[in-house]
Amino acid sequence: MNQATYELLTTICDRCGGRCCYYARPPLTEERISILLENGMTLDDVLFRDHRMLDCKSTGFCVGFSEGRCRVQHVKPETCSAGPFIFDVRDGCLRIYLRKDRTCDLVAFLKGNPAVYHEQFELALEKIQHLVRSLPREELTSFCGVEGPETEKVAEMPLSEVLIGCADR
Ligand code: SF4
Repeated sequence: MNQATYELLTTICDRCGGRCCYYARPPLTEERISILLENGMTLDDVLFRDHRMLDCKSTGFCVGFSEGRCRVQHVKPETCSAGPFIFDVRDGCLRIYLRKDRTCDLVAFLKGNPAVYHEQFELALEKIQHLVRSLPREELTSFCGVEGPETEKVAEMPLSEVLIGCADR
């Protein structure tokens, strides 16, 4: 994605007030935890449950949300970069969904700009596939068991295709 498009999408996100950062709890790989620790977060910001995730503050907003925006924007977790696309893994399939318009201002913009939609979808797919390959299977199952926002399905592929080359999956 070119810089101008990235900045345009970021501007739209900045205006929304962080709806997708409210009780977001993005899942974290070992790699992402290390990156976040190198960029100002601490282990107190990470919740270690059935899967590892960024914690929320008492307000419900993500610990990364500060002064109306993400303070780790350049290194944020994969599911944050993928938005407004989200995913699920069930029955041997990876399914990609798009949030409903009313839950994210980016959705209407992307639907009205097919080239940008395509760019963001490709970025989301890359991030999601990396996450699916990197999370331990039990953590992936735990994350996919969490109820998500209202969505529409936009793509589906066999999990076996996503995991090609992953030795122990
Ligand atoms: S890491 Fe950033 S983008 Fe992701 S939920 Fe937290 S504040 Fe929002």
